Amino acid sequence: MAFMNQPVSHSPALRSLTGLSRSELADALAQVGVPDRQRRMRASQIWRWAYNRGSTSFDAMTDISAELRSSLAAAFILERPEIVTEQVSSDGTRKWLLRLAPDAAGRRHEIETVYIPEEDRGTLCISTQVGCTLTCTFCHTGTQRLVRNLTAGEIVGQILLARDRLKDWPGDLQANPNPPLSGRFITNVVLMGMGEPLYNFDSVRTAMLIAADGEGISLSKRRITLSTSGVAPEIPRAGAEIGTMLAISLHATTDEVRNKLVPLNKKYPIAELLAACRAYPGLSNARRITFEYVMLKAINDTVDDARRLVQLLKGIPAKVNLIPFNPWPGTVYECSDWETIERFADVLNRAGYASPVRTPRGRDIMAACGQLKSASQKLRRAERDAALEAQSPA
Ligand code: SAH
Ligand code: SF4
Repeated sequence: MAFMNQPVSHSPALRSLTGLSRSELADALAQVGVPDRQRRMRASQIWRWAYNRGSTSFDAMTDISAELRSSLAAAFILERPEIVTEQVSSDGTRKWLLRLAPDAAGRRHEIETVYIPEEDRGTLCISTQVGCTLTCTFCHTGTQRLVRNLTAGEIVGQILLARDRLKDWPGDLQANPNPPLSGRFITNVVLMGMGEPLYNFDSVRTAMLIAADGEGISLSKRRITLSTSGVAPEIPRAGAEIGTMLAISLHATTDEVRNKLVPLNKKYPIAELLAACRAYPGLSNARRITFEYVMLKAINDTVDDARRLVQLLKGIPAKVNLIPFNPWPGTVYECSDWETIERFADVLNRAGYASPVRTPRGRDIMAACGQLKSASQKLRRAERDAALEAQSPA
């Protein structure tokens, strides 16, 4: 099922306040003449409306004077990404293709965001970059050449937009009186969409601090998971400055195999990556690192691999997520057989690691892990090929 919405006109003259930190927001208010001593208080009011109620209009902010509301509306907007399409999978997973506001060169990039409802939680999987500079060979996003970092507003904007569409704001309770999970649709956020979050550190930090702020979106940091392909030097800092849960895309137990699957391993090999994990602050049995391991037939799925994995993880409070490989057009990899995955999981379970096999979700709409790649990129490539063909001599 697809949903198309009307194009929103972007007004380049108006600055978006979405994604500013509290202090940036207070500073921005100087632009409309809010006196210095009032700025923190006004910023708090706007913050609550924007992130606790989901307001996109200053008019709704009834505890702010009409005069200031109209000055705010004349200078600022509270921007969301624009929905290009919304697809709903047969299993209830939703995928949005979102178009971002024009960048400095006037280009409007696209990203994908996925919502995965489960019995006891609702997880939103968000993107941190357009495409990805890394080139993991099993990942569809890694084949997308066009890359830029998302702004903090574009990262947190995905959560705001998903809450709009799911009717997940406190004010929606009348329209939607029975949100399934402790009063909310989105209970968890994972940074597992397009991009490498630790290569966009500052914007990811600002956006996640907004998501976790108790006067706003109010998601506990324990319910936010940052997934990295292994940017070892940034891992301890991510713990100290962002403080969410951590997931590591390990996928192999020898450097030889990991070099092929995750080329970043040549820069930060397994031993260095795991040393950085050991330095992640606040680890305990109640706060473990998740190691993601994609099951690739005849590549990384033997019982010996499973045993080596147990050895590698010794001393790290860890759990393992086994991810059946999700195929995409043109890939050379295949998913391991089910018995092979079970044998692998058995070794881990016997060594005391909870190792759930992640059921692929939303495969029919290409929303599963590693299948994301914006349609615009495919289109552009097709257009480029057509243009090249037209140029080449017959
Ligand atoms: N760049 C970050 C986060 C985004 S990728 C990272 O690599 O961790 C999110 C997860 O999906 C990662 O564990 C990634 O390895 C996995 N993944 C990528 N392609 C996949 C595929 N085709 N099938 C299954 N999992 C995949
Ligand atoms: Fe980038 Fe993660 Fe895909 Fe690797 S797996 S190419 S780091 S998005």
